[in-house]
Amino acid sequence: MSSTRAAVGEEAGEVRRFWDGLGLPGLIDVHTHFMPERVLRKVWDYFDANGPLIGGMTWPITYRGQEAERTALLREFGVRAFTAMLYPHKPGMARWLNGWAADFARRTPDCLHTATLYPEPDVGTYVREAVEAGARVFKAHVQVGAYDPADERLQPAWGLLAEAGVPVVMHCGSGPAPGEHTGPEPVARVLARHPRLRLIVAHMGMPEYEDFLGLADRYDEVRLDTTMAFTDFAEAFTPFPRRALPRLAALGDRILLGSDFPNIPYPYLHQLRALERLGLGQDWLRAVCHDNAAKLFGR
Ligand SMILES: [Zn+2]
Repeated sequence: MSSTRAAVGEEAGEVRRFWDGLGLPGLIDVHTHFMPERVLRKVWDYFDANGPLIGGMTWPITYRGQEAERTALLREFGVRAFTAMLYPHKPGMARWLNGWAADFARRTPDCLHTATLYPEPDVGTYVREAVEAGARVFKAHVQVGAYDPADERLQPAWGLLAEAGVPVVMHCGSGPAPGEHTGPEPVARVLARHPRLRLIVAHMGMPEYEDFLGLADRYDEVRLDTTMAFTDFAEAFTPFPRRALPRLAALGDRILLGSDFPNIPYPYLHQLRALERLGLGQDWLRAVCHDNAAKLFGR
């Protein structure tokens, strides 16, 4: 990342002008990835190898610095709060990831303490422990984890999170590649049992955008994050249907900025420009890029 210092500095200036122009104190990004270094390297190797879970696409990662460089860059961008989205792909891993994430949050005060889960016998216990330890947001990855979010073993965890009002960002849409349990139907079963669950549908639910907007219409605590949606990259393979734009406007208080930083194949600024060009206006951008998350997380 150091070799492109000037370009990054220039981008940071543009990002700051974006939120400053809206009269915001900065951005809140609910979908950024921080994880133990060797796990992150494995994720990057996977993207480099165009693996099937990313639809076999060419996906050059833009921000491959050391952890300290990556957090410094978010601060340069003026991201006032962000998350450490991490997730297990097998049992016996979530508790360890949660330990790492708690430590990361302790040494990174602008990171919202993040935790994760997996359907396994002790999930209720470690989710409770994580909430008691101050976790502010959870991440669930239905595609990589290859589990049914309505799995019986997860019921105590969803119940606890709903009761505690702790949001969970869930990658549950079938993009960039479908999984056995992706799509709106399994999530609808979770919400039928836990209607107050503060579910944040990652990536606007791409490509099932309209089905997930429907869940947000139906459940007041369902929100969606913008991660990668509306960008040139996502529009090329899963375009957001223009006819649904008025629904985005109507749900303007339930859409949250997410970026997927650092694992994005384009500059951070492009996500912001992609939101801007939707043409939904400055009030909408202010809510999405900062105010909705500020309210949700008390920041
Ligand atoms: Zn992500």
